[in-house]
Amino acid sequence: QKSPGLQQGFRSMFFMLTPNESSFQKVEAVPQYVEQATPFFIGLMVLELLVGVLKTGGSVVTISDGLTSISAGMVSRLPMLLMRGCELSAYMYVWDHYHLVELPWDSAWTWWLTFLGVDFCYYWVHRFAHEVAVLWAAHQVHHSSEYYNLTTALRQSLTQQFTSWIFYMPLALALPPSIFAVHIQLNLLYQFWIHTELIRDLGPLELIFNTPKHHRVHHGRNLYCIDKNYGGILIIWDRIFGTFASETDKVIYGLVFPIRRFEILHVQFHYYLYLWKKSKIYKTIIHKLATFFNGPSWKPGKSRLGDHDDNPKVCIIPQRKMPSGFITHHFDTRKTQMLSQLTVLGMTCYILLTLTSLGFIIDQRPRAASLEMLRCVIMVTMHRYSYIKPFLPLLAVPTEVRPTVVCLGTVETCCLHCCHTDSCQKPIHD
Ligand SMILES: [Zn+2]
Ligand SMILES: [Zn+2]
Repeated sequence: QKSPGLQQGFRSMFFMLTPNESSFQKVEAVPQYVEQATPFFIGLMVLELLVGVLKTGGSVVTISDGLTSISAGMVSRLPMLLMRGCELSAYMYVWDHYHLVELPWDSAWTWWLTFLGVDFCYYWVHRFAHEVAVLWAAHQVHHSSEYYNLTTALRQSLTQQFTSWIFYMPLALALPPSIFAVHIQLNLLYQFWIHTELIRDLGPLELIFNTPKHHRVHHGRNLYCIDKNYGGILIIWDRIFGTFASETDKVIYGLVFPIRRFEILHVQFHYYLYLWKKSKIYKTIIHKLATFFNGPSWKPGKSRLGDHDDNPKVCIIPQRKMPSGFITHHFDTRKTQMLSQLTVLGMTCYILLTLTSLGFIIDQRPRAASLEMLRCVIMVTMHRYSYIKPFLPLLAVPTEVRPTVVCLGTVETCCLHCCHTDSCQKPIHD
């Protein structure tokens, strides 16, 4: 697999690649643009923080919210440890068995057509994710932050990919998987930089492209923002299909019913439970099904999408702060490549435990201390057997646990290594 290189990797964040440099014959040759974007994510988030301080005099990110978003980003990529993305896997299957024509992979026309096709399909993936409650249960994760900054972009759903692939299948009848594999990544990456309040207006670009201004509206819970601006790279689809709204009043971000919790599994899964409970209230099977397949605001007697006037009116709620102080570390990727699936599963559980523990601490729940203690024990064990290594050597925790008996008595009651006489109080060294 080719590495895109620093400069190309940076340009991939803004859809600034040419067909020439990003057309490949085989899927295997397509660079992992998203995986390799991590340094740019971090760099741009730091830049946003600094510019934000200079411009507004305060931080545009809070630790608790930012960490929850980054955690969600990590969780959403966990299935990738075990398999190729659902979207690409399904695409390759349909292409192999059912494609009708084979457009040339090395033509710029194919490349641009795939760009338009992927962006058009994304519009519908996204619109269905908002208009069908059971799909919204996955996508609401992305909207659960009450802040709007670059970390919000990373707040992705773990489960959305298990349904979104369906929408791209028509493309697999004609467009080669290797070109699709490029565009499905570029489409996602483009949507990173638009999650910022620091860029206000981009003039004529606002007519065609999805911009920070348009996407802010998409994240709003003001009445005029609900179910608007679904576009990925282009905003023209919203203009064509009547879902476009321009930014007017100050946007208040987040869910109509804010969750205000930071535990990562709660953020990812709470809405499924909510839907289940909601469906149990209704007596008829039609109403029960409608709970899952109509819009999230639907109620019996209302239209498919419900009545947004019933939603609570927007107001600003103060945010909770979190205590600081924890250790960052990451998995040793060289080792990951050789791991058995069982070990990967174990590591996945560990990541989930870490993020859940973090959420417990932020939420100041009574069991936070015991959960964190359990996590520490597991972490030390994993360090000991080299399954993980610290992000920075400086942050390494001592994993070689050696006896440090404090000598309290005479020489005879201590071990042979003790060099002190009389009533020494110093730990014994080996
Ligand atoms: Zn959305
Ligand atoms: Zn967004």
